[in-house]
Amino acid sequence: MALKLFDSRRRKKVAFKPLHGKTVSMYVCGVTPYDTTHLGHASTFTFFDTLSRYLALRGFDVRYVQNITDIDEDILKRARETNTEWRGLVKRWSARYIENMRRLNVCWPKRYYRATDFMGEMAAMVKRLMRMGLAYESGWAVYFDTAKFKRYGYISSFTHKQMVYLLTEREEHPDYANMKRPEDFRMWVRSRYWEPSWDTAMGTGRPGWHIECATIINTLLGPKIDIQGGGSDLMFPHHEDTAAILDSISGDGPYASHFMHTGMILKNGEKMSKSLGNLIMLSDLLKRYTPNAIRWVLLSHHYRSVWELDMDELRRADERVRRVERAIKSHGGDTGAGMERFFDAMDDDMDTPRALEVLEEAGGGRSAAKMFSTLGFA
Ligand SMILES: [Zn+2]
Repeated sequence: MALKLFDSRRRKKVAFKPLHGKTVSMYVCGVTPYDTTHLGHASTFTFFDTLSRYLALRGFDVRYVQNITDIDEDILKRARETNTEWRGLVKRWSARYIENMRRLNVCWPKRYYRATDFMGEMAAMVKRLMRMGLAYESGWAVYFDTAKFKRYGYISSFTHKQMVYLLTEREEHPDYANMKRPEDFRMWVRSRYWEPSWDTAMGTGRPGWHIECATIINTLLGPKIDIQGGGSDLMFPHHEDTAAILDSISGDGPYASHFMHTGMILKNGEKMSKSLGNLIMLSDLLKRYTPNAIRWVLLSHHYRSVWELDMDELRRADERVRRVERAIKSHGGDTGAGMERFFDAMDDDMDTPRALEVLEEAGGGRSAAKMFSTLGFA
């Protein structure tokens, strides 16, 4: 069987064929480091780490880029609220995030890219879009004019009404008054004197979130890539806005062949979110459970499913992973029978729950050891 991956845009599993031979370009939207890593982050980044490991096992040369959004309105807000200097805040939480990922044995991406390292490129991108007549200046900011991008919203296929509802719910745009229509988004902000700013071709200012990812993709991989990854809440507006920028630049689209979105983890039937204050923190789980047990539970739910964490599952996972470890250590023999079934499971849109069953049934040997490390257990 050939590898098939789901594409959110086409809403189906499609054969995975990279744009450039055996090289896979993958971009996964990273964290905004002003708070601790929660289970949703752990789930998303563990999945894309596992996908990279599997692609590498399949003989692909994986070019995985993940950003760190180290300048953003949320960071400035948190810095104000806690009376801390924003750079210190970013440095502290970035380091903790990377440390948390290491503990979960997340070894992809090989390095993280900071948005602030691309200021010149971002300003040039905004300038280019202005010259193309796709942006307008209003108030303190420069906005993308979504009315000029005819296919706006093609990934989610949301209606105008749904988009406005989501934008309002997520408070993405506090400055409707300055915009031509609610879907338009801020690409550049002219900083006031007390706010952080960079001197660029766009003058003194700072970038908006969507231009950050679009620019990093365009600079390091794109404008067209094989896989755009992230949590399902990033599909709109973030990936739609990234598409508006990148497809305008390339004059083509879609910018990603596969949009891969991970499902939400619920708590008591509700979405985990900062605003509801019901986040499960990874650092708390790591105090009580091994990284392997946490990883087992994350992979025992298909990446697109919406699920709820059950603490009993973590205890059981700990026993299961230890049993597999013991089997790998003690068994010299290897029937090799499981490997084919493992490939079948993983080729079917990364069916990790099935792959874990195959691993448990393999009962040790070299094949089991290979499955174990491909799934990212340490
Ligand atoms: Zn992004």
